[in-house]
Amino acid sequence: MGKWIEEVEELVHPGRIKVPYTWSVGEVGSRFFIELRDRQKIFGTRCPACQRVLVPARKICGQCFSQTGEWVEVSTQGTVQTFTVVRYSSDVQPLRPPFGYGIIQLGGSDTGMTHLLSGSDPAKWRIGMRAQAVFKEKRVGNILDIAYFQPLGV
Ligand SMILES: [Zn+2]
Repeated sequence: MGKWIEEVEELVHPGRIKVPYTWSVGEVGSRFFIELRDRQKIFGTRCPACQRVLVPARKICGQCFSQTGEWVEVSTQGTVQTFTVVRYSSDVQPLRPPFGYGIIQLGGSDTGMTHLLSGSDPAKWRIGMRAQAVFKEKRVGNILDIAYFQPLGV
């Protein structure tokens, strides 16, 4: 750290940098998102070593480091393992509050998938509730083709 900071008041000006970029989601990511976009289906991949079905689909099992291969369609419904409720607005949030971020374990999957929760009163939400994927009308091939998961029965 330079000595100047001790002798001079440090001024900080807010700025904004807009950096457009693109990146490849890879072969597994591409197939996963194409299934969301074109067929409104959610797929995972099975690890040949531990047999877990990983959702979203992954090329490598994070537990065994084995390469997956078998594609497995999972349910668009699942169980909410945990969640938090967002009550404050921000330009970067994909939904208007109140909404939730949750981890949903879909039927046929062995892992939880992080996504948005919306469509009912958050005050009634509980860990263990069921939730259904709600797809956007116009899908483009990314994770937000699922608009959110709607809790069921609450
Ligand atoms: Zn594994």
